[in-house]
Amino acid sequence: MMPDDHPVRRHRILFVASEAVPWIKTGGLADVAGSLPRALAAAGHDVRLLIPAYGDVLAQYAELTAVPGFRPPVAGIRLLTTRPDSSGLRSWFVDLPGVGDRRGNPYHDEHINDWPDNAYRFGVFARAAAALAGGRAGLDWQADILHCNDWQTGLVPVHAMLERVPATTIFTIHNLQYRGLFAAETRARLDLPAWLWHRDALEFHGQLSFIKGGLAFADALTTVSPTYAREICTPHAGHGLDGLLRARGECLSGVLNGLDPDVWNPADDPYLPACFDAEDLRGKRRCKKALQHELGLAQRAEAPLCGVISRLVAQKGIDLILAGLPRLLERGGQLALLGRGDPAIEARLRAIAAEHPAAVAVRLEFDEGLAHRIEAGADLFLMPSRFEPCGLNQMYSQRYGTPPLVHRCGGLADSVVDTDTDTLEDQRATGFVFEPATEAAFIEALERALAYFAQPDVWRRIQRAGMARDFSWRASASRYLEIYAQAARSRG
Ligand code: ADP
Repeated sequence: MMPDDHPVRRHRILFVASEAVPWIKTGGLADVAGSLPRALAAAGHDVRLLIPAYGDVLAQYAELTAVPGFRPPVAGIRLLTTRPDSSGLRSWFVDLPGVGDRRGNPYHDEHINDWPDNAYRFGVFARAAAALAGGRAGLDWQADILHCNDWQTGLVPVHAMLERVPATTIFTIHNLQYRGLFAAETRARLDLPAWLWHRDALEFHGQLSFIKGGLAFADALTTVSPTYAREICTPHAGHGLDGLLRARGECLSGVLNGLDPDVWNPADDPYLPACFDAEDLRGKRRCKKALQHELGLAQRAEAPLCGVISRLVAQKGIDLILAGLPRLLERGGQLALLGRGDPAIEARLRAIAAEHPAAVAVRLEFDEGLAHRIEAGADLFLMPSRFEPCGLNQMYSQRYGTPPLVHRCGGLADSVVDTDTDTLEDQRATGFVFEPATEAAFIEALERALAYFAQPDVWRRIQRAGMARDFSWRASASRYLEIYAQAARSRG
């Protein structure tokens, strides 16, 4: 059923991404690609999600079956599918020959070296996406909206253009830092025409950039928060692509990501030892106790317990957290950190946890359940990212009554209300926001947060305001529908 307030026609949307919950996840892109298409399907649109069939997907989901009649645009690839989910969303999986056997991270090996066939895999994936959207893959289906996400899908708008696919193409930037750069000869290897080797097309300082395909050729560009949309048009945060983004500024908009309220709901979360809501936080206290126990931290109910869940990369400002740690420990605080990534950051964290076993717990793994338990059991969530396109954990933490402490940038600036006398007074304060991204500013904000934590009534007010915020996809999914309609109109 189309909701009454949407007099738009029912779109046929092909949503293309390199990862999506529940199938495969390394970061926030998977959460978004899992929940936005579902929200659009639940609003009555005909939505198909397309992701690669990685080894981990094939191994975990034996129920995937080949789509009969699929005519592959590149010999040997298969299209797999499964039954639509409860929202009506159908997922499709592109199975590339020889790639499905590989397990682990989709993009790199355990030493963070990119897989050598990344360009080939995502190049072929893009061809399959364009063929499916154009109704040229032997199936009785064609898209009118082709929504692509990040560099892995950057060549989709390129193939859609080359093959005159009639669908309107949307390209969403989830993180501009990852530009999908490959050696110049990749262009010929992927059979891309020579004219695309141009600074207004795919060339980027002597390399081939996948993301430029999306930025230059999609009908509309979006990114995942209004502030990040402004930031990436400046040399400071544009990663060398700000000129192109400024040139396409008229069709660039920022839409804050939503979250899936069924997956991230403290009142009904199967990963938690106890559930809770804004009216009754007793379950949260039990979650804290259980988390301290699970992680081997001292069982101290009064200790301010700080949570961190993060890819361990320079972007995330883990160095600022470590700079503030002595102060946190002096104040009797604890740290629970879950993350995986840069081996040097991992080694540092391992050493610090060994020094303070009762106060610092570090888990260097990917563990969805523990992520939920940290959101629920921590008192304060630390997210001092140097830049953050949107960020999801600061939204999850507000929902779980765990005020976030964030650097004022990107989606963090758009989703956290700093605590001061005024915002406390009118019950808007939901966390702590600092700038610039320096050790001194971070420590000052941490001190401020700990001082508020010591006043239970005030803290409770901050928790409640965060828990009351609506971070669901409702508003943002409607905004995407407006962008689709507008882009389709300007395409003519
Ligand atoms: P990014 O996409 O840059 O990694 P986001 O904040 O947008 O950052 O999203 C990160 C997502 O990945 C969140 O859902 C977070 O809980 C999850 N996540 C990150 N690291 C881990 C981990 N080690 N274990 C479990 N979940 C993780």
